[in-house]
Amino acid sequence: MNRDFRRTVIAGNWKMNMLPSGVSAYADALLSMIPGFLSWCDTVVCAPFVMLSEVRRAFMSSGVGAGAQNVSRYGSGAYTGEVSAAQLDDIGVEYVIIGHSERRELYGETDESVNAKVLAAADVSLRPIICVGESLRQRETGVTCDFVSMQVKAALFGLSAERLQRVIIAYEPIWAIGTGMTATPGDAQDVCRHIRSVIGSLYGEPAAQAVPVLYGGSMNDKNAYELLAQPDIDGGLIGGASLKPEAFAAIVNAANQ
Ligand code: PEP
Repeated sequence: MNRDFRRTVIAGNWKMNMLPSGVSAYADALLSMIPGFLSWCDTVVCAPFVMLSEVRRAFMSSGVGAGAQNVSRYGSGAYTGEVSAAQLDDIGVEYVIIGHSERRELYGETDESVNAKVLAAADVSLRPIICVGESLRQRETGVTCDFVSMQVKAALFGLSAERLQRVIIAYEPIWAIGTGMTATPGDAQDVCRHIRSVIGSLYGEPAAQAVPVLYGGSMNDKNAYELLAQPDIDGGLIGGASLKPEAFAAIVNAANQ
């Protein structure tokens, strides 16, 4: 974290878990364990579409933001089953995860579609949380930084410097997601610093310094503090541990130390 340049962001990714009827109890438990508005960190809950209004209601006037886990690349029209950026914005959703590795692997998300969705999200006032990260094989063959550079450049293609201000990048090594294996703080820091340097080469150093770069991949209440102590890791995207209010609160509290 470097609080001189950017705010910390702790975002929970519920994936396809939880029920709408359980949101209120979750929110009450979480809010009883974390600081309110006077916090160093922006806390976000990224929930399935059907729970987003409930998340907004349950966290109303708490400062905890609501995020979606996907968005359509299109503005409106005959796209059955899709949800647009404007629709999310209209119900007060502020963030959207784009290009999560599960969507890339299971639903054919490509660098091109990620880019189209980033542009669509940034067109309204949504903050895209763009996921990038290498496979185990790519790490073992030493191409992590090349691969991640390509993903970052593709995701930001055609995005203006003004819209970049809304962007958050999440470095999520695929081999660490949901596996209990975490990148070492040093390795995660190296890739997050590299991501910042790629953004700097595209938009200049001051703009790159302002972009929050998160780490994601089995972050939990035990390892969060050390990861968040790295200068280029500005927060976390948290899957499994965000389902338990106690564990998620502990991570938010580690970010506030
Ligand atoms: C994720 O889904 O983005 C994630 C990082 O999951 P987990 O924390 O469970 O590894």
